[in-house]
Amino acid sequence: MSKKVRVRFAPSPTGPLHIGGVRTALFNYLFAKKHGGDFVLRIEDTDQNRFVEGAEDYIVKALNWCGMHFDESPQLTGEHRQGGHKNFGPYRQSQRKHLYKSYADQLIENGKAYYAFDTAEELDQHRKDHEAKGKTFIYNWHNREKRRLVNSLVLTEAETKAKIDAGEDYVIRFKSPQDETLHLTDIIRGKMTIDTNVLDDKVLFKSDGMPTYHLANIVDDHLLEITHVIRGEEWLPSLALHQLLYDAFGWDAPKFAHLPLILKPTGKGKLSKRDGDKLGFPVFPLEWKDKNTDDVSKGYKEEGYFPEAVVNFLAFLGWNPGTEQEIFSLEELIEAFDLSKVNKAGARFDPDKTKWFNHHYMQEQLDLDLAKQFKGTRPELADVDINYVALVVGLIKERATFVSDFWDLSHFFFVSPQSYDEKASKKAIKEDTATVMEQVKAHVLKTNDFTVGNLQTNIKGWITKNEIGFGKVMMPLRLALVGALQGPDVFDIMFMIGKAETVKRIEALIKEI
Ligand code: GLU
Repeated sequence: MSKKVRVRFAPSPTGPLHIGGVRTALFNYLFAKKHGGDFVLRIEDTDQNRFVEGAEDYIVKALNWCGMHFDESPQLTGEHRQGGHKNFGPYRQSQRKHLYKSYADQLIENGKAYYAFDTAEELDQHRKDHEAKGKTFIYNWHNREKRRLVNSLVLTEAETKAKIDAGEDYVIRFKSPQDETLHLTDIIRGKMTIDTNVLDDKVLFKSDGMPTYHLANIVDDHLLEITHVIRGEEWLPSLALHQLLYDAFGWDAPKFAHLPLILKPTGKGKLSKRDGDKLGFPVFPLEWKDKNTDDVSKGYKEEGYFPEAVVNFLAFLGWNPGTEQEIFSLEELIEAFDLSKVNKAGARFDPDKTKWFNHHYMQEQLDLDLAKQFKGTRPELADVDINYVALVVGLIKERATFVSDFWDLSHFFFVSPQSYDEKASKKAIKEDTATVMEQVKAHVLKTNDFTVGNLQTNIKGWITKNEIGFGKVMMPLRLALVGALQGPDVFDIMFMIGKAETVKRIEALIKEI
């Protein structure tokens, strides 16, 4: 029987989650759900110096906003699950601290790792000496047994023990194999070979009792029975070490998939927060306030993006279904997603495409829901009937990308023009406009059944019959109603604001002329 698919999203809580992190979570989520598997959140907080308060909470909130929910997480341990589900928790590495030492010891015992006592100053000196000779210092097979380094490969067992007993600081280093060719496989990148001689002996454990990322990551992926590791390309250089660690423990390694980088809109270099600041788009899902600097970073949610749009555009950063279809709900993405269709090449971030998706999902929202959001944004709408607002939204949303665009597109449905656009006035007002508008007013007044259809028949019929010219009537009429030459159909506007208000606005324009 094949094992149940289990994937994890394993962020370090060092700040807000970048949009690239959300994409990694999304691909994990889609893969898990596609295969009926578990989507697990593991918090990699072994580096307490980089811990940022509120980051974990932010990560959970951001992913939930996108519609991704974990099956297991620090908040949601396995216990709540039905059917005798194994409890894999805790899900924060800081709470799993007690576990790692025995695994490091195991590697020492079977000769796959060793103690190293070199101080930071000594290592720094080695680095400098090497640099002076135009070389780079790497701690590995070529020098680890030389006397100038202080480790358990050089010292006798008794000397090593004496140092540890005396409380000297040490680290445990992985003993990378010498002269081996390592064969690695990545679902996206295929097969790779690595010469183990280029690897350095990475630190796995420190005498302060904390494991490093590499050890904790491998031990936890094993204990949590993770079947697929899907993560960013920046971790590809660690794959060799990770594979070697699995081998050293005698464990089966999960399958790996390293996702392509997300590139700047220009296509050159990795997308950064600075690109967003410069070009005016967010790189975080939710707003984030830095507690130290009070700096606020924009979030997609607060900028008016719909989660469906964010998910849809993120899915296309590095993946595509191989068809023309671009619009995918989360459910449809689960159905269509395939790791083997993820590209190797970096994915260019296109802020305009994000807006295009938002415009699309805007049209799919219920007018009443949009009206509720819109109402909250303007004091002028406080006392307006929600159904009226919803009707207005229905007339203008096709031209909007965000709810924040609504007011500019629709203010004239709620308040009469305060002024007339200069350019529009020049274009619309001719010598006889006042007279023409008096006539329009008369037609409006005599239209008793004030519907779009009747208004259209009366006014258009009169224009045609008297050969007045549409522009001569419709342009100033629009100017009177809107204050500019913009907006939806003139008859829709008249119907919406009603007879009395229409007449008032026509009179106001005549007075202005
Ligand atoms: N903690 C790592 C990060 O912050 C996780 C890398 C991995 O998924 O193995 O990205």
